[in-house]
Amino acid sequence: MRLGTALRTARVVTVLVGADLSADEAVSPADSQEREWVDIEPSDIATPEEFRQAPERVWRWYMSRRASIARRSPFPALLALNDLLQRLPRTHLITGNVDGMLERGGTPVRPLELHGSVWRTRCMGCGRVRADTRSAHPELPPRCTHCGGILRPDVVWFGEALNTHVLDQAVRAACVAEVMLVVGGRVNHQPAASLVAHARENEALVVEIGLDARAGGLCQLALPGPPEDTLRALVRQGLTRPPDPAAPE
Ligand SMILES: [Zn+2]
Repeated sequence: MRLGTALRTARVVTVLVGADLSADEAVSPADSQEREWVDIEPSDIATPEEFRQAPERVWRWYMSRRASIARRSPFPALLALNDLLQRLPRTHLITGNVDGMLERGGTPVRPLELHGSVWRTRCMGCGRVRADTRSAHPELPPRCTHCGGILRPDVVWFGEALNTHVLDQAVRAACVAEVMLVVGGRVNHQPAASLVAHARENEALVVEIGLDARAGGLCQLALPGPPEDTLRALVRQGLTRPPDPAAPE
């Protein structure tokens, strides 16, 4: 099997985790805490303009999202991916999801979060970035304990550019990949598409894994179906090395 050979021999495998594996879904009208946000599109509220005008409202929306994400368990596909990652050689992990679910699921590889994370704040005064797992703050917008500046969610809002440092790392991870797995997303959707193009310049084997996986264009191999089933099968079929107990966390 072409993929098995590629996974066994590749020196670097880069994995892109797409929006299908995001826990950060549309709000549930059945949840009274979230009813306020039912008709709100993320593009209406996750913007610098909205934050300038109504930071308290934007923060309440993010608190609702945090609470919603916190109620969910890591998806089986993420757990299956972790198992696979432990059996691969050097790996890079990239996602556009902001839910922090890869780390909550115990990923052995630190993900590059292209769009940031709802579980961090960034100070608009001093720029400090801090972990913040609270789903409620006594004061909104919260303030920086260092400089007193307003804290914003450390996410990339609509109309903002990606963090160049994170993007550079992601491009490097794509450029050195010999296999690129796109799990739970489409290779022709951004932010995957531009990274996949870099991987193809290195003649990487690009594989789409997910319910709607389809080969074509930049994607050479498609493994359609529930991604957890596909990922478990890759491990079960011995297409990867056994996990290395000495591997760094
Ligand atoms: Zn500050």
